[in-house]
Amino acid sequence: MDAARYEHILRARKAELENRLSRIEQDFTAPRNPDDDDRAVERNNDEVLEELGEAGEKELVAIDAALARIGAGTFGTCAKCGRPIAEGRLDAVPHTPLCQTCAGQV
Ligand SMILES: [Zn+2]
Repeated sequence: MDAARYEHILRARKAELENRLSRIEQDFTAPRNPDDDDRAVERNNDEVLEELGEAGEKELVAIDAALARIGAGTFGTCAKCGRPIAEGRLDAVPHTPLCQTCAGQV
């Protein structure tokens, strides 16, 4: 298992997320449109942005944890059962701490 390859993927993903989150932040602080007709739409957009922001923050935390596991040499090992996580799964979700079996039990 090539941890350096996943570290590269995780760092790229982290940079992308940080970028997206800072844009979301800017949208939140942008001046409101005073036109009443647009308010409902803007509120919906805010909710979507908020959800994106929350999902992004969670993913960032998971990515940081995965990078810490690479540093500790435990990356690619399931945090629950201690078995190796399949590379196909890591390719799909590189920040996952769990193997397919344990993730299915959550
Ligand atoms: Zn497991």
